[in-house]
Amino acid sequence: MIDMDTIVSLCKRRGFIFQSSEIYGGTGSCWDYGPLGVELKNNVKRAWWRDNVQLRPDMVGLDASILMHAAVWKASGHLDHFTDPMVDCRGCQRRFRADKLDEGEWVHYCAATKGNKFMVPAGEPCKHCGARRTLCPACGKGGLTDARQFNLMFKTFMGPVEDAAAVTYLRPETAQGIFVNFDNVLQAMRLKLPFGIAQIGKAFRNEITPGNFTFRTREFEQMEIEYFVMPGTDEEWHQRWIDERFAWYQEYGLRKENIRLREHEKDELAHYAKRCADIEYLFPMGWSELEGIANRTDFDLKQHSQFSGKSLEYFDEESKQKVIPYVIEPSAGADRSTLAFLVDAYHAEEVKGEKRVVLKFHPELAPIKIAVLPLLKKNNQIVETAKKICADLRRRWYAVYDDTASIGRLYRRQDEIGTPFCVTVDVQTVGDAKATADQKVTIRGRDSMEQIRVPISAVEAVISDLMSGQWAAVAKQTGLVA
Ligand SMILES: [Zn+2]
Ligand SMILES: [Zn+2]
Repeated sequence: MIDMDTIVSLCKRRGFIFQSSEIYGGTGSCWDYGPLGVELKNNVKRAWWRDNVQLRPDMVGLDASILMHAAVWKASGHLDHFTDPMVDCRGCQRRFRADKLDEGEWVHYCAATKGNKFMVPAGEPCKHCGARRTLCPACGKGGLTDARQFNLMFKTFMGPVEDAAAVTYLRPETAQGIFVNFDNVLQAMRLKLPFGIAQIGKAFRNEITPGNFTFRTREFEQMEIEYFVMPGTDEEWHQRWIDERFAWYQEYGLRKENIRLREHEKDELAHYAKRCADIEYLFPMGWSELEGIANRTDFDLKQHSQFSGKSLEYFDEESKQKVIPYVIEPSAGADRSTLAFLVDAYHAEEVKGEKRVVLKFHPELAPIKIAVLPLLKKNNQIVETAKKICADLRRRWYAVYDDTASIGRLYRRQDEIGTPFCVTVDVQTVGDAKATADQKVTIRGRDSMEQIRVPISAVEAVISDLMSGQWAAVAKQTGLVA
């Protein structure tokens, strides 16, 4: 299993992810997606949106604002209950989650060994004196305050006056924007149950202990679905969504052995949830949540109906009755998914005695689809032909031209950023004094490193087949380049 440091350093080196405000020393747990990262993340979001909205007759989309009426958070329960228990160290002033104090190793100055400093493994007693941790785990000296409840919402002020009446919050989840628009969408789109509303957008949580790269951050992007169903059909729909979402990640390349379902225990469930299952991925730090799929019952619509005084019912034509729909919520993280696809794509291989790092992205997710490379950058005909092919391909896919190194180096660079196909233009393509041009180019596949040779006029059609995973079939037709 690859470690996180390797991923973080590859991400920085190749322009996937940078630390935010790095020239000022960085800002805690905030990350910026670089030129390749933004492509990768956009591709993840685009695949999710197409599969969950555009390809389904029972789904529509929404893009609600981040700032909402403050009453939303009273109704949703976030104002009163969206808290973590927190303690402070009286010595070093560090802040910890009270329920996570013993999840990391702790600093101990041991009286049995003349006060020597030890790092004791998480949750274990000192092996010299048998003492357990009571003081601050980070400095080993300070006492801890009693636990206090700390609200995770970012508070801000709307308008020019900073007083209580102007207080509002950055949304801690995108879901509430969907619930408050339930009736608007229902009426405007003339929908019938069951139907769903999907949304991709930023959410903010003032986590006490963020970490693990882009896995847990204070600003993050969600891909959420609220799927409304007739009460009584909710359990069946819940299972269908669990199965579909679990299959989705594998369709885009996550390996089966690295993904699992984890059912929430009864005491772990939110008070309104009937059942919840997490899709977990085997990240470098261990199994962690990628997506939660919850049956939220009719809790949210009921709450907003009560607090707003507006009816959020659905009139069922068949039974001629008004019902409050139940809701199934598949809630995924765009940043987490992107990180999981990155981690899973990473392969370090040995090729002819040399190390090759390759990101084996699904072609749909790869930031760059095609690199067009000239074999000789001093040959004008080769360069011009390559640039022309690149410009033609770019109208349909993200393609780049690169002539800044030898062909071997160029291939390795494209492997390391996960470009599925390289198109190479050589002397044979354009001809020279000794031979006439064959007007063909070489296409190299990233994973197998096999090469095929096809006419320039057929490149677009061939790449189209290759993008849909037909390398073997195409290679059989054209034959491999020896
Ligand atoms: Zn301390
Ligand atoms: Zn000790």
